[in-house]
Amino acid sequence: MSDFSILINATYVVCALLFIFGLKLLSHPSTARKGNLLSGLAMLIAVVVTLLDKQIISFEFILGAIIVGSAIGVIAAKKVEMTSMPELVSLFNGVGGLASLAVAYAAIVNDASASVFVLIVSFLALLIGAVTFSGSVVAWAKLSERIVGRPIVFKGQAIANVVLILAIAASGYLLVTEPAITTWHYVAIGLVLLMGVMLVLPIGGADMPVVISLLNSYSGLAACAAGFALENNLLIVAGALVGASGIILTNIMCKAMNRSLVNVLTSGFQKVHTNEMKIEGEIKPLSPDDAFYVLEAAQSVLVIPGYGMAVAQAQHTMKELQALLENKGAEVAYAIHPVAGRMPGHMNVLLAEADVSYEQLFEMDEINPRIEGFDVAIVIGANDVVNPAAREMVGSPIYGMPVINADLAKNVFVLKRGMATGFAGVDNPLFFKPNCRMIFGDAKETLNSLVRQFAD
Ligand code: NDP
Repeated sequence: MSDFSILINATYVVCALLFIFGLKLLSHPSTARKGNLLSGLAMLIAVVVTLLDKQIISFEFILGAIIVGSAIGVIAAKKVEMTSMPELVSLFNGVGGLASLAVAYAAIVNDASASVFVLIVSFLALLIGAVTFSGSVVAWAKLSERIVGRPIVFKGQAIANVVLILAIAASGYLLVTEPAITTWHYVAIGLVLLMGVMLVLPIGGADMPVVISLLNSYSGLAACAAGFALENNLLIVAGALVGASGIILTNIMCKAMNRSLVNVLTSGFQKVHTNEMKIEGEIKPLSPDDAFYVLEAAQSVLVIPGYGMAVAQAQHTMKELQALLENKGAEVAYAIHPVAGRMPGHMNVLLAEADVSYEQLFEMDEINPRIEGFDVAIVIGANDVVNPAAREMVGSPIYGMPVINADLAKNVFVLKRGMATGFAGVDNPLFFKPNCRMIFGDAKETLNSLVRQFAD
């Protein structure tokens, strides 16, 4: 091994350690930003060192690509609305898959003497990369409502999938045994791209967070396989890290919805339960003025944010209200559901933006046993994540999903604009419970009225 390649590999080890350390820092909100920067720096070093090592293209190209790529990333991340973040993540995953596809394709066509092992791993990178790319594009289209969010199923779909899998296996075999015949390359790429579409189409919009997390894991596996094809140790390590962390997140999200991954992936083919249950009780609207009197007397207040808080951008006003409640001597806590909002950690990000202390945020499992002790639960634009149908209504589409038991607090105030359902499209019996009052209107405006009352 030359001195130069020892230096390159030593740099790779440092980058791999930085990735792992960066991931560790990402596990807590207070260190997450540092973790992101550290991993980004490691990636920059890795890109530069790899391109220097292989001397593939000139410096001008390397620099140009880094500048153009970074500019696209920065502009996209700055411009995106917080509510559209899952769509952006989905596109980023897709681009990761596309990159692995391109690398694998280049490995196949550029090396006429490639070994069978290299051809097999290249085909795997091509397969997983293409599925990630086309699957992510469909997930993006569903989330951004460019195509319908409900599961898209058609007669004979299962048979079509089996035929497709057999055709992919055959094209893979031909590609590995006859790599010089370019027709097999195009056939294989076309089939695997179609596979990604077929995998995501039958999955409903409400399950997209799990799908995006799974596709994220696939993008890592594709990179890992590409790493084997190129014999690049760092790409193998980085891909494995993304693959493993993606699958762990997928598992956490499935658990949060009390579903198995198989159930999520095949839900479109299962019998759809309708909202057959009859909800009893009546809606009791309340004005912010009347709500103020209850809040003024409350000793403990639990805030349960959801997607509507992100839409209304009500987190800063909630922080103001929190300070006023605390001035009056009340304890204020926040309950965070793992799938509240539209992306993992959505509520944590919003509340951190408003400088709410991490010590006041409680996960669902921590807070549920304590909810009965709270004088008031304020539900801000949350719906599915506080829906007691998940506990009480066997047959409801969300039955069995763990939820925050807001209905067990002494009083519940629900801040939302009307009676619209949440993302899952299921009616919510919480709104009809005797201890629940609906404060209709935009969440930020309602909170502003409450803040004004306290300030007067
Ligand atoms: P929901 O989507 O269930 O409900 C949000 C509610 O907010 C709506 O019922 C809406 O009612 C209300 N709302 C919207 N705008 C405003 C506003 N300006 N002011 C006040 N209220 C408003 O949100 P949850 O957070 O409870 O649940 C998240 C759902 O999204 C789950 O089903 C989850 O599976 C899914 N999901 C989660 C992802 C994740 O990674 N976290 C990603 C994708 C989906 P109204 O219109 O009447 O005001």
